[in-house]
Amino acid sequence: MNFSDSEIIASIMKDKGYSLSDDPKEADAIFINTCSIRDHAEQRILKRLRELSSLKKKNNKLVIGILGCMAERLKEQILEQEKIVDIVAGPDSYRQLPSLLQEVEAGQKGINILLSEDETYTDIIPVRYASNKVSAFISIMRGCQNYCSYCVVPFTRGRERSRNVSSIVDEARELFEQGYREITVLGQNVNSYLWEAKGSKVNFAGLLEQMAAIDPMLRLRFATSHPKDLSDELLQLMASYNNICKSIHLPVQSGSSRILVLMNRKYTREWYMNRIEAIHSILKNCSVSTDIITGFCTETEDDNHQTLSLMEWAKFDFAYMFKYSERPDTLAAKKYPDDVPEDTKSARLKEIIALQQKLSYNSNKNDTGKEFTVLAEGLSKRSNAHLFGRNSQNKVVVFPKNNHFPGDYVNIMVTHCTPATLIGTESDLQTPC
Ligand code: SAH
Ligand code: SF4
Repeated sequence: MNFSDSEIIASIMKDKGYSLSDDPKEADAIFINTCSIRDHAEQRILKRLRELSSLKKKNNKLVIGILGCMAERLKEQILEQEKIVDIVAGPDSYRQLPSLLQEVEAGQKGINILLSEDETYTDIIPVRYASNKVSAFISIMRGCQNYCSYCVVPFTRGRERSRNVSSIVDEARELFEQGYREITVLGQNVNSYLWEAKGSKVNFAGLLEQMAAIDPMLRLRFATSHPKDLSDELLQLMASYNNICKSIHLPVQSGSSRILVLMNRKYTREWYMNRIEAIHSILKNCSVSTDIITGFCTETEDDNHQTLSLMEWAKFDFAYMFKYSERPDTLAAKKYPDDVPEDTKSARLKEIIALQQKLSYNSNKNDTGKEFTVLAEGLSKRSNAHLFGRNSQNKVVVFPKNNHFPGDYVNIMVTHCTPATLIGTESDLQTPC
């Protein structure tokens, strides 16, 4: 999401005559787009600021801006403690960046952390400056008001708001015409996307259908789905369009219903299992990935075992796994003690990572001997004679380049695999999934 926001920021700056620099030593201004989701993310930004202070010493005209969630959360602290910072701008203030720069030029600090109820940057065409020219992101909504008790997002990104449906579809069509072949639509909870205008309503399935109809050669992915809102209607739509990728990221966070209540996730273990069953009964060959937090407040060994057993049951293809990091002002920080000792959190994280590695490897082994249509994205890191790309299930596949190029769809028979990658050769059979 920050990657996508940075593309919007680049566009706003470009409109005012600024251009991007590859070299921080050459830059007149450096903006750091920040994340507050875990303490670790914020510590990395503070470290980056220390690294930048030598540049600022050499060039006192250099403007340094802290943008995004950390700006929103820590405005005073940043301005007091990080003397090299000139601009502090929250996630809804990017349009003001050029005027904040002018304030800095006039000798002041440039500050704007106002959150908005309707800013979606809908009219801004992102500058896709780090793109592979094959896949792109489109933000379809901003903010979140689910208030999961551990999560800082509702405080740093404000209320949920959806972007105008036609601006999204137009942007997707333009990308396709420019040669892009895969779009990932982004939102904190895409399933609650809702655009209402002139008495008509478009929900997420409706939006996806309009995007899927642009061209069968345009693949679509989406993230993230909240399990409470993953509807059969969406799964059925996915089943009816080949170009909607068969891959769902469905963060479970914990396998224990007791912990899920404390997390305010609004679903139980059983509900989650029912959603996984719905995915596999409506969609053939759909991969499922997840996010897991270990060591949340009051988590016991038994809760942790429930997470492990759910993982085994769901056979996740992939997972992002984190230790719980208490975030100031969240519901959990106010109500529950962060009482799982650090070494227990680490031991549990190690255990779930080991299990997930086994599950991911098994899932890849199961794919050996199968055929997939792979969208080539670029040269393989290890060999110029090979390309890499992804199958519909979002798995990375490496295969001989032959006469193919990034952006081509290639049918591949998987011959072997590593824990993270499928490896195959081109096949001429016509039944790939
Ligand atoms: N909106 C998405 C998630 C966004 S944050 C959703 O609800 O699924 C991405 C992931 O970061 C979350 O799924 C969660 O696993 C993790 N995360 C969020 N807050 C955290 C915290 N305080 N400590 C550890 N992990 C956290
Ligand atoms: Fe955070 Fe929950 Fe919103 Fe995801 S759904 S961003 S975890 S509050």
